[in-house]
Amino acid sequence: MLRNCIVIVTLSIFLSLSVNGQKNEPEINLRYNQNIGLSYEETIAAYRQMDQYFDEARMLDMGMTDAGLPLNLFLISGDCVFDPEKIKESGRAIILINNGIHPGEPEGIDASVKFAADILKNRNGMKQYLDNVVIAIIPVYNIGGLIDHSKYFRIDQNGPEEKGIRRNPRFLDLNRDFVKQESREARAFASLYQYLNPDVFLDTHTTDGSDHQYTLTLIATQPENMTSAMETFFREKMVPSLYDRMRDESSNEMIPYVEYSDHGPVNSILGFEENPWFSTGYCSLFNSFAFMTETLIYKTFPERVEATYQFIQQLVRYTSENSEEIIYLRREADIYTAKAKDIVISWKTDTTRWEPLTFKGYRWEDTIMPISKRKTGYYNHNKPYTDTLKYFNHFTPLVTIKLPRAYIVPFAWEEVIEKLQHNGVIMYQLSKDTSIISETYYIDSYEPVKRPTQGHYINTNVKVHTVIQEISYHAGDYVIPMNQNSNKYIAYMLEPQSESGFFAWNFFDSFLEGQDWYSVWGFESHLKTLLDSDTELRADFEKQKAVDKDFEFDHVAQLQWLYEHTPAFELEKRRMLYPVGRIIGEL
Ligand SMILES: [Zn+2]
Repeated sequence: MLRNCIVIVTLSIFLSLSVNGQKNEPEINLRYNQNIGLSYEETIAAYRQMDQYFDEARMLDMGMTDAGLPLNLFLISGDCVFDPEKIKESGRAIILINNGIHPGEPEGIDASVKFAADILKNRNGMKQYLDNVVIAIIPVYNIGGLIDHSKYFRIDQNGPEEKGIRRNPRFLDLNRDFVKQESREARAFASLYQYLNPDVFLDTHTTDGSDHQYTLTLIATQPENMTSAMETFFREKMVPSLYDRMRDESSNEMIPYVEYSDHGPVNSILGFEENPWFSTGYCSLFNSFAFMTETLIYKTFPERVEATYQFIQQLVRYTSENSEEIIYLRREADIYTAKAKDIVISWKTDTTRWEPLTFKGYRWEDTIMPISKRKTGYYNHNKPYTDTLKYFNHFTPLVTIKLPRAYIVPFAWEEVIEKLQHNGVIMYQLSKDTSIISETYYIDSYEPVKRPTQGHYINTNVKVHTVIQEISYHAGDYVIPMNQNSNKYIAYMLEPQSESGFFAWNFFDSFLEGQDWYSVWGFESHLKTLLDSDTELRADFEKQKAVDKDFEFDHVAQLQWLYEHTPAFELEKRRMLYPVGRIIGEL
């Protein structure tokens, strides 16, 4: 490893000297204390400077974004080894920090630059964290949203002076795009995530909603999605330690994310039900320990940057001190996932279980707003209080899916197959046409939403029933064995009842339309030939007319009955038959 480092150092100095003629320690000009956030150009320039000066730093391009600019990844590795495989062999944990997914919420951008510079300069001996941890930072995820900035955007937010916008250039909220991956950013992220396979993940945000005394609120991914060993470690050690350290060492006490409902008194706090469309949800599908920081918009920008910086530092330090246990738990979880028998795709809050939580709020009092004269309430900062609230942070399964031995996705569903492959899913193609006994879903009912979300009229309230039947598959159809690290991603995306699976996002909607049906005139002109050639059908038809007097005189019903009793109707039976098969027997 030392040798590697020396080779890279020599090369780096040569490049640096040849470009600049000298090698000065980079001065990173942060102005968050003056309420000014870094622009996109300043952010990238800062990382490039660090990349050029520090041998332990490397800036990579990881694919394209919808802004037409590459998604960057900045790596900090103590021994100058940047290959994730080699990093894992050396027993170090990888932490991935994502910033600027909602660029109007920019404090993570500034905090990460500051943190990277501090650790590389070994401020307060911080470099020791790198003994056990490699840090990966996405400087800005939604680049288009940061470039498009104004002092009028996020008009309700307390700084910085200029803010970016939430949506990317394709109007997608990128924190809803992690599993369906329609933005270039999400596809680049999937490549990046599969390349790094990070043990710990953080996504930095800012939130509105109820006002209180805390600067930073925390979403720790839903523990029930973990293996029980991971869940115990997460609930009992990792998360409580982060809260303790932020309070005792950083003097910046934090609180679980206060679920946004409406302004008003905070009476209880609900745990966060994870959805794989979020970054944290996506990373949880692959067993990362995932977090989202949500600083409060009413606090000043410098306060929010400092709080985010402190959390990053505590998270890196905790991961470094507990890297062995984190890596071990995750490895065990991957093994468990590959052998899992079932998966929960939907949860509900357990209203019978809660923990007492100390909450420091501000009293909610009536007021009349000065401009609109609206009678409303406000949080009176002159009346802080401390109370004990109920924190409901347990969930019970709502929909549990028994995993099949394999899924089969017909060749025709190209986009679905590409997305699965892009996420590291291993599959093979049938070499010849084959009939396979499969468990199949029929969609009994579903409700597309009335207004689009992310460009989709999402299918909700999906009700299904299953039928085990022989299905003819064709050469080229894809078989996906369910013995992989990606099991949770595969099942979640292919099960039709998943809230943000491929069916919900309309990727399969064309099968809902059915097949050909018939024209009345055309069908009637063929009827005589049909009945003459099929005596059994004629006999059944006469019998039906004899027992049902209405039927005898209802020509439309007769045509329909005849159609439904010919092999042509087999085509119509495919209507509502979900195209993805589940193989439950031997392959
Ligand atoms: Zn956000």
